[in-house]
Amino acid sequence: MNDLELAVELLRDTPTHENRTGEQLRSWAQTALEYGDELADTDMPVDIQVVEREGGVRKGELLLAEHQRGTVIVYTDALRRTEEVARERGWAVTRESLRRAAVAHEVAHHQLDVRELNRRLGHTARLGPFRLRGHVAGADEIAAHRFAHRRSGLAVSPLLLTAALAGRN
Ligand SMILES: [Zn+2]
Repeated sequence: MNDLELAVELLRDTPTHENRTGEQLRSWAQTALEYGDELADTDMPVDIQVVEREGGVRKGELLLAEHQRGTVIVYTDALRRTEEVARERGWAVTRESLRRAAVAHEVAHHQLDVRELNRRLGHTARLGPFRLRGHVAGADEIAAHRFAHRRSGLAVSPLLLTAALAGRN
């Protein structure tokens, strides 16, 4: 599967999108990927304070990294687990490139302009007589994955890795 197909699958698995058409999901996925590409081409820095600790693997849940008050926390146990999953599939990733991708992903979430992304997605929702700019759940995730891929040089798409971790492929 390519990134567009993987991004469509990610949206399809996101609550609120169960009844969207394939065409709609494809269009949103494309827009989100393009936004991630565009961000990667800007001079948005990805150097940020990073701390490492255990605690990212819980029952049925894997948290690679999170952004807290100007610092990115990378969870080393989740990183090891992700590396194992990648190795099992024969993907040539290093822990360092995974770590770089995880940090870049969090930086993207922190810095991407959700309002601008929503404007491009062009999704509106009706509220009585008003049409409001809607939020497309999962679109920021797709943009962050694409940004992380471009900035980290990871040998495999983060969207593919995420699908593997979720047991979707
Ligand atoms: Zn994310």
